Amino acid sequence: MAGQTHASGARHRVVIIGSGFGGLFAAKALRRADVDVTIVSKTGYHLFQPLLYQVATGILSEGDSLIVTAGADQSYFGNESFADHAPGMKSIDDALELRARIFGSFEIAELQDEPEVARAWMTFVLVGAGATGVEMAGQIAELARDTLRRDYRHIDPRQARVILVDAQTAVLPTFHQKLQRAAARRLEKFGVELQLGVKVVDMDAGWVEVEDPDGTRRRIQSWCKVWCAGVAASPLGGQLADQAGAETDRAGRVEVNPDLTLPGHPEVFLVGDLITLDNLPGVCQVAMQGGKHAARQIVRRLEGDESGQPFHYFDKGNLATVSRFHAVGDIKGFRLAGFPAWLVWLGVHIFYLIGFKNRVTTLFHWAITFVSGGRSERTATLQQVFARRAIRREAELRAELEEARRAAGPTQPGDVAVTPSDDR
Ligand SMILES: Cc1cc2nc3c(=O)[nH]c(=O)nc-3n(C[C@H](O)[C@H](O)[C@H](O)COP(=O)(O)OP(=O)(O)OC[C@H]3O[C@@H](n4cnc5c(N)ncnc54)[C@H](O)[C@@H]3O)c2cc1C
Repeated sequence: MAGQTHASGARHRVVIIGSGFGGLFAAKALRRADVDVTIVSKTGYHLFQPLLYQVATGILSEGDSLIVTAGADQSYFGNESFADHAPGMKSIDDALELRARIFGSFEIAELQDEPEVARAWMTFVLVGAGATGVEMAGQIAELARDTLRRDYRHIDPRQARVILVDAQTAVLPTFHQKLQRAAARRLEKFGVELQLGVKVVDMDAGWVEVEDPDGTRRRIQSWCKVWCAGVAASPLGGQLADQAGAETDRAGRVEVNPDLTLPGHPEVFLVGDLITLDNLPGVCQVAMQGGKHAARQIVRRLEGDESGQPFHYFDKGNLATVSRFHAVGDIKGFRLAGFPAWLVWLGVHIFYLIGFKNRVTTLFHWAITFVSGGRSERTATLQQVFARRAIRREAELRAELEEARRAAGPTQPGDVAVTPSDDR
């Protein structure tokens, strides 16, 4: 294929923002095209988000045309103060912080003289019963019941309470009712308490306040909370939409054209969790197929075909793991639950892991965990628990200092200049 060059003679360049599923699969789809590809990403790695919960619970250890696949962040629906007490799970840092909080809670419970206080440290509240919430609840229940049962003298980890809260009345709201019930049964068999139709209205370090369907409010004493509800598209989406005069939905996802381009900008493609189009779900396949579609569109254009092909999502199905050897799945209407679904889940996740080494090390870790029930990745540090808030607090202090400097106006001769130190 003749290389497309600009008048300047430079080769056509494709810039991809984001190294997630959308970005990676767009780049892979362009590898044979005669274009220069640049990936700009906040992180220097590709994060396989579907297995983050395994890092958090100690099973695993720690890349012209524009394609924007900047994904989504956590949303607390306006209750930003909740973030201090209930971390989400969107990044490696989140997963490591959660691991330190989960394992740390058992350690602190072991040191308590008062049973009530120990109980609050061994009460885990997960907010949001989607796939991530269900996966995390199942893992923490397994940790308490199996992995840690012989690890302590004063506490019995099997007494831990794992509470999964959701304002909706069923777990896994995007799955078929039959699978919702199968997942709920399995969780309850593992001792997970399902509090459905219940809203979280407030929280602090040591408790969560919830509102029951009849409006009554009550507090759950708990020091370890996980936020598995709500996503907000990356702010980059909103900035692009503002500049292009495009619409966004309540979660900040950008309304794109059927061919995934930004309205008014055929050279800009938006892919994955950042977009809203035909109610497509926020899952890997939408990002991967969208990335490939954008890449194909660019190649078609370089071949002179300017007609924008609409993006067609091929739904390969939905899978969620509930606990060891148990998952639920809906593959083209074929509904599976239990061990068979878990085998499909295992195969699909190994298949999509990038690179041979990742596949082998993951299989090795899984062998340890799924066969022995042990977990090899249990290192937890205080820094992992407090770093996120310390970094945020430092940024706030910098902003306050900058504000004070601006308010103080230009320095006078003889004034001592005060600048924030750059040695982090
Ligand atoms: C815990 C968890 C479990 C999940 N499990 C599943 C599952 O089992 N199955 C499934 O299908 N889906 C699952 N998902 C959803 C799935 O991971 C997402 O739908 C998918 O990652 C979206 O791909 P993306 O490319 O749009 O964004 P992402 O994969 O999130 O990638 C976004 C990329 O953009 C980068 N970035 C963000 N902002 C900027 C910026 N301003 N500048 C430069 N770079 C930036 C980020 O660093 C990242 O590299 C899960 C998600 C989570 C959080």
